[in-house]
Amino acid sequence: MFFTVLTIFPEMFDPFWSHGIIRRALEAKKIEASAVNIREFAEDRHQVTDDRPFGGGSGMVMKPEPLAAAIRATSQTMQGAKAVLLTPQGRIFDQQMARELASYEGLILICGRYEGVDERICHDLIDYEISIGDYVLTGGELAAMVLMDAVTRLIPGALGGEDAAEKDSFSDGLLEHAHYTRPRIFEAQAVPEVLLSGHHQEIENWRLESSVMRTLLKRPDLLQNKDLTPQESQILKKWRQA
Ligand code: SAM
Repeated sequence: MFFTVLTIFPEMFDPFWSHGIIRRALEAKKIEASAVNIREFAEDRHQVTDDRPFGGGSGMVMKPEPLAAAIRATSQTMQGAKAVLLTPQGRIFDQQMARELASYEGLILICGRYEGVDERICHDLIDYEISIGDYVLTGGELAAMVLMDAVTRLIPGALGGEDAAEKDSFSDGLLEHAHYTRPRIFEAQAVPEVLLSGHHQEIENWRLESSVMRTLLKRPDLLQNKDLTPQESQILKKWRQA
């Protein structure tokens, strides 16, 4: 998977590439990533990428020509890549969308600034408009990092343990079960006995119950669209009656 980020602040990505799973995935060549400065595609002497809005009003708008040139140049070197505009007006990003994006060979992530980008960019050059939530950021860079982080977790081998991402919250429509590590007792709270038993099947049963129960308590909306297995239905019935 190739990520190319188009931004006027490419240096924001240096710390992002240099830590944790993302750094390891880069080193292991599970992903490739670069940040390209949109200013390089501005043709005027001052490399201007924004201008005042037609119709008046406050704020600036990102000019279409440098953005279009940057997207076209990047697309030519990344065959099969999809162009994603980060915008608060896009589809809300979720785990299902992360899976969809992880299936492509590459992603070109376009980061807006100011009041956003000239609307004409969206007509022919953009495959996806994606929002990371119903709030407004000052720029698309943080949103691009969120997206790359979530997608990278789904690239085979990026996490080390092959099935680690499959067990994450949302992957099967439920929140993940509770986790515990040492010490066995922390501030008078003991780790559930079953997790110390070494009994694989009982641990699996406990984890499924924890997962269903937490989803019911914390995100009951997720259960509305979920096809429950008979075991999950039984657990849910028990906890609804509790
Ligand atoms: N005036 C725009 C509006 O009201 O829809 C908001 C522009 S915002 C200040 C500047 C840039 O930040 C956007 O072009 C977009 O790239 C990015 N951005 C802001 N909020 C975002 C969100 N929730 N998800 C993804 N990108 C976002």
